[in-house]
Amino acid sequence: MSDSLSDCIFCKIAAGEFATDFVMETDLVVAFDDLSLQAPTHVLIVPRQHVSSIAQLTDDDRDLIVDVTLVVNRVARLRGIDATGYRVVTNSGADAGQTVSHLHWHLLGGAPMGPIA
Ligand code: 5GP
Ligand code: ZN
Repeated sequence: MSDSLSDCIFCKIAAGEFATDFVMETDLVVAFDDLSLQAPTHVLIVPRQHVSSIAQLTDDDRDLIVDVTLVVNRVARLRGIDATGYRVVTNSGADAGQTVSHLHWHLLGGAPMGPIA
């Protein structure tokens, strides 16, 4: 992973440049509400360090991968959707429709969802 990219919106958010309210944060990730909610709960979990997508993760990123999973579950409990269910999505590359080239996971829940794609 590189550090931060000066023109990357999620690097700036993770660095606190926009005073974004974090739902949760750890040494490795920050979680904040998506700007454009696709579900009643729509939280993005974002590594503090810049990496463009899940495709770039390596064996060295195991701590990050574990952290993300635990943060997803903690945010789900915090938002009260752990019992009713939730979906976790990360888009990688053009065919998946990735629009922000800084790795992030979408945590979606709070209402029944249709099938994926
Ligand atoms: P992608 O399409 O890359 O998987 O998802 C990018 C997500 O980032 C979209 O859901 C979009 O609404 C969200 N997003 C883009 N810019 C910002 C921003 O400045 N702040 C927040 N909170 N979300 C953003
Ligand atoms: Zn970035």
